[in-house]
Amino acid sequence: MGTLFIVATPIGNLKDITLRALEVLKNVDLILAEDTRVTQKLLLKYEIKKPLWSYHQHSKLTKIEQIINEFSNGKNIALVSDAGTPGISDPGGILIQAIREKLGNDINIVPIPGPNAAIAALSVAGFPADKFCFLGFPPHKKGRKTFFENIAKTEETVVFYESKYRIEKTLTELSRVIGERKIMVARELTKQFETIYRGTAKECLEQLKKDKILGEFAVVIKSL
Ligand code: SAM
Repeated sequence: MGTLFIVATPIGNLKDITLRALEVLKNVDLILAEDTRVTQKLLLKYEIKKPLWSYHQHSKLTKIEQIINEFSNGKNIALVSDAGTPGISDPGGILIQAIREKLGNDINIVPIPGPNAAIAALSVAGFPADKFCFLGFPPHKKGRKTFFENIAKTEETVVFYESKYRIEKTLTELSRVIGERKIMVARELTKQFETIYRGTAKECLEQLKKDKILGEFAVVIKSL
């Protein structure tokens, strides 16, 4: 039985990759990627040539069967996502669960730790982070109101993700429930246009609107 390596990759800056991650990517038989074009850029930079299979949220059950077949044939496989640690708010999570369910303890799943946007954002927030609550993405419709109400009730520092399409709406709704509580919005961490906004949700939104609302966001809310 082969081994599955869960390999964290950069969240922007391609230099943010560990020596061990590069070694694993060079040595596996196959790499499973969320978007092969994104991963190809990383592989090109480090001159790694490997078969790349795509794995995303719309992948069918037959794809999982094919992947499991490869393990049964003794192949070692690396799973990467478009950015950061696979399985953390991305489709890798479903695949890892399915493989664990099908193969149980027969398969060795090895973490190759590295970047993660939530942890990178927390690390510069200057908010208590001995314990914190990570909430992934706010739901688009069902459960959205409860999502924000729960944040208001949470005593620990809270972190969640948001896209450029919804950040304005999200900060407006957040502001309504948390009022003056301090937040930090991290935009495009490790990339050319990395920007950190600090203040209340309303203040951050005002600053953000002055810039172009582009990029990827991690929002951190200070503990009560
Ligand atoms: N697995 C990834 C991780 O370990 O961070 C997260 C994947 S999730 C699909 C992508 C979201 O993470 C983006 O929409 C954004 O909210 C956040 N994100 C990813 N890269 C980021 C960056 N460079 N700066 C800020 N947020 C980022």
